[in-house]
Amino acid sequence: MDALTQARHKMTEGVFQRLGIHDDALKRIFNEVPRHLFLDSAQRHAAYQDAALPIGLGQTISQPTIVAMMTYALGPRAGDKILEIGTGSGYQTAVLAHYTPRLYTLERLAELSRRAQAVLESLGQRNVIYKIGDGSLGWESWAPYDRILVAAGAPVAPEALKRQLADGGRLVIPVGNRDTQRLLRIDRRGGAFEETDLGECRFVPLVGSQGFGEEARRDKGEYGF
Ligand code: SAH
Repeated sequence: MDALTQARHKMTEGVFQRLGIHDDALKRIFNEVPRHLFLDSAQRHAAYQDAALPIGLGQTISQPTIVAMMTYALGPRAGDKILEIGTGSGYQTAVLAHYTPRLYTLERLAELSRRAQAVLESLGQRNVIYKIGDGSLGWESWAPYDRILVAAGAPVAPEALKRQLADGGRLVIPVGNRDTQRLLRIDRRGGAFEETDLGECRFVPLVGSQGFGEEARRDKGEYGF
């Protein structure tokens, strides 16, 4: 086993221990997906630490623990039609692509979408359909979806996403303000939506017509702090 593979396996052990969950299929996927390839050379050394890291354009690759927690909460079944909002680096996309040949992923920033697509294709993952656009409106053309995962924090669960869920389908989404959110699992049963709160989390904002506005960024000092 080379050093990177070893580091990855160690990370996987830590993640699953921390979460206290047992899911052998997900664990195998975590051991397989080469997270370092979704990062640029400056960040690569930290790829197997359990941390969110910058991927440019003010965005981040999600922390492995969060990716595991969200995927576990999503509970994808083989062959489910899955929609992912916020492709970002493509790491979570790669994890989801192991479950289904029917994976659709939306990203609003063209550069990130293209980069993610290039990495996934270099890994031989050809079962993903990419789109550049506002995921807060979902992706009507392929609806309904069995599973929808949103990797950015929203002010509310967008109606469009709920509408695009199949009966018996499930949406996992962080809902709150720009800084902190609650991770929600929303299960659709006919016309009813059952909500489960999975705890606090921190995601970059979902920016879009059903998300947050493209506001001045605090980290640039526009608010004076
Ligand atoms: N799971 C990804 C997380 C990326 S961060 C990873 O591990 O790499 C969240 C991503 O959501 C960012 O790339 C951001 O640009 C994107 N995003 C924010 N609002 C969006 C929207 N309305 N539609 C699509 N993507 C959006």
